[in-house]
Amino acid sequence: MLDFSRQFKVIREEVMAALEAVCDSQRFILGPEVDGFERAVTAACRAPYAIGCASGTDALWLALAAAGIGPGDSVITTPFSFFATVSSILRCGAKPVLADIDPQSFNLDPAAVTALLEGSGGNVIRGVMPVHLYGQCADWDEFSAMRKTFGICLIEDAAQAFGASWRGMPAGALGDAAAFSFYPTKNLAAMGDAGLVTTTSPQIDDRVRSLRAHGMRRRYYHDEIGWNSRLDTLQAAVLQVKLKYLPEGNLKRQQLAARYDTLFQAARLPELGIVLPFVDPRGSHVFHQYVIRAPRRDDLRAFLAQQKIGSEIYYPLPLHLQTSLKSLGYRPGDFPESEKAAAEVLALPIYPELRHDEQDTVVEAIAAFYGG
Ligand SMILES: *Cc1c(COP(=O)(O)O)cnc(C)c1O
Repeated sequence: MLDFSRQFKVIREEVMAALEAVCDSQRFILGPEVDGFERAVTAACRAPYAIGCASGTDALWLALAAAGIGPGDSVITTPFSFFATVSSILRCGAKPVLADIDPQSFNLDPAAVTALLEGSGGNVIRGVMPVHLYGQCADWDEFSAMRKTFGICLIEDAAQAFGASWRGMPAGALGDAAAFSFYPTKNLAAMGDAGLVTTTSPQIDDRVRSLRAHGMRRRYYHDEIGWNSRLDTLQAAVLQVKLKYLPEGNLKRQQLAARYDTLFQAARLPELGIVLPFVDPRGSHVFHQYVIRAPRRDDLRAFLAQQKIGSEIYYPLPLHLQTSLKSLGYRPGDFPESEKAAAEVLALPIYPELRHDEQDTVVEAIAAFYGG
């Protein structure tokens, strides 16, 4: 599914030199590597502010809290995402309100969100948190229009979408604030946990910086109750190196995705019910994941596993059906598109160093499964 050692072989010396420089400096908290990485991200994302933190989960939490979301507020988001999308809203003391996805893009359906905003019955909806799932931006034409009409704030869950864009504007510069994750499987990957918030607002920037360091703007004077969520300096050093290789890596992902499409079509698999990823022409999809819909998905996955071909399900159980989120009061059937997607999606191996012969093997195995 994913072989990290291939990239590491190429960048080993640069990464080790960056790590050694931190060791030699003996500065392990914030410092020039964190500043340097934050600056590099502001350039890459064309967002005026970037603040490193400990994880993508913390980045979501920091972005929401710094945007002023707290008890009594509601935030609309998708049930078809990683758990942190919803848990970060709860961590802020706010209430997650869920809306179904668009079946083509798997992203939050703007029509479903609008319906909630128009009839928000008792909920004070302060924000919407679209997720750029699998590396493709949510429909930002619609969400930015909603921001104007309803006065909501927009927080991007951009954990899977570093380098993606919408009408030429990068993820991270679209909303009031955005959260990135550098978890090792993401397309920009640290060597451990790491995350980052970008924002277009100087107030949010100042507040995230304060909140990630115990609410301190001046040493040992605490203006508010924050927490410890700094970006580790060693991780920042690694990320500075890896960020340089990201545009090339994202391009390779796009080329591999196009090649998968061609191979699937040549094998006539769409005629047998395989649905290939939809690419919205208004954006640029970075294919953090290449996700198909597959008939008899679980049998296919078992068949691939027998042949030592990795695949993954993002995500098998929608968030409204998670045991820990029972108190939100949702039931099976509430979000039919998310539930259908959870039963049908399969992510296939895709990363910049994946070889063409390996890709051929994946498609041949899938064709064999369907008797092609
Ligand atoms: C990975 C991910 C997160 C959480 O990031 P961590 O760095 O693992 O805390 C949040 N949202 C989405 C959509 C993700 O894919």
